[in-house]
Amino acid sequence: MKKVLLIHTGGTIAMEENKTTGGVNTKETHPLEATIAELSDIAEITVKNYVNLPSPHITPAHMLELAKFISDETNSDQYEGIVITHGTDTLEETAYVLDLVLQTSIPVIVTGAMRSSNEHGSDGPYNLISSVRVACEDQSLGKGVLVVFNDEIHSAKNVTKTHTSNIATFQSPQYGPIGIVTKRGVLFHHTPLRSSRFHVKDFSKNVILLKAYAGMDGNLIKASANGADGVVIEALGQGNMPPATVPALKDLISREVPVVLVSRCFNGIAQDIYSYEGGGKHLKELGVIFSNGLNGQKARLKLMIALENTSESAKLQQLFLE
Ligand code: ASP
Repeated sequence: MKKVLLIHTGGTIAMEENKTTGGVNTKETHPLEATIAELSDIAEITVKNYVNLPSPHITPAHMLELAKFISDETNSDQYEGIVITHGTDTLEETAYVLDLVLQTSIPVIVTGAMRSSNEHGSDGPYNLISSVRVACEDQSLGKGVLVVFNDEIHSAKNVTKTHTSNIATFQSPQYGPIGIVTKRGVLFHHTPLRSSRFHVKDFSKNVILLKAYAGMDGNLIKASANGADGVVIEALGQGNMPPATVPALKDLISREVPVVLVSRCFNGIAQDIYSYEGGGKHLKELGVIFSNGLNGQKARLKLMIALENTSESAKLQQLFLE
């Protein structure tokens, strides 16, 4: 039987609903204890209550500390798989940081729940069982960090939370899940391409994320970029910006503050196509970096990680093409 380390970090999966007020909040004893006892048929589980935080309280520093904790725990080859329970709001961000920095090839699965432990149709126990099954599957080896939720297996790079409350919230726009969990087994149908892994000691750079809109000018960019080491913008369509933002973007680039563009569209990739003022081709000529399909929140984390290793624009552009 495989040995799996289960790391709890909090989130709705660790919460319960107050039936009088309707408020959902953390619980002292972990509500998954009964489910963990049932898992003894599938794996030998060791539980670590790492933190108990709602995921809006999770910061990039927590993500990096969690990565260090996992590296220390996996150094001794004691475990054959890792399952992390996490709040869903920032789950994709933690999964992506772990994917970029963990060196281990054992399965690392991140899961959570949309309904707390005492709500009808609570999805926590089921997602936990599915995750442990995926963690024990030989085919999960070397696929990077995976998100298992609602019978689907997603890559950390592509998965995103798409719905505020539906249990099918985690989707990988454009690409779909890389596998499914059925009653009989775990079936993979894609193998994700692995991108570079990074050595990061601490996050020391301030990277901000902005969203473009019709009629946007440079004021918000100027105000919020003051003191920023990098700026990620969810641009319009294929990667275009309103012309009134161009002077502020030029100013950032002249001060060697990297500007990374992703698209605010749900599907597709930001590219240098249009050559009008503020069009992607124009912006690329100015030195704006285009990202290869990441969403804004993940591009921000990738830029934070990349900036710990290099500040050269050409190298940063190369990393964002992966
Ligand atoms: N707000 C909760 C959190 O992220 C949502 C959840 O866990 O599903 O902690």
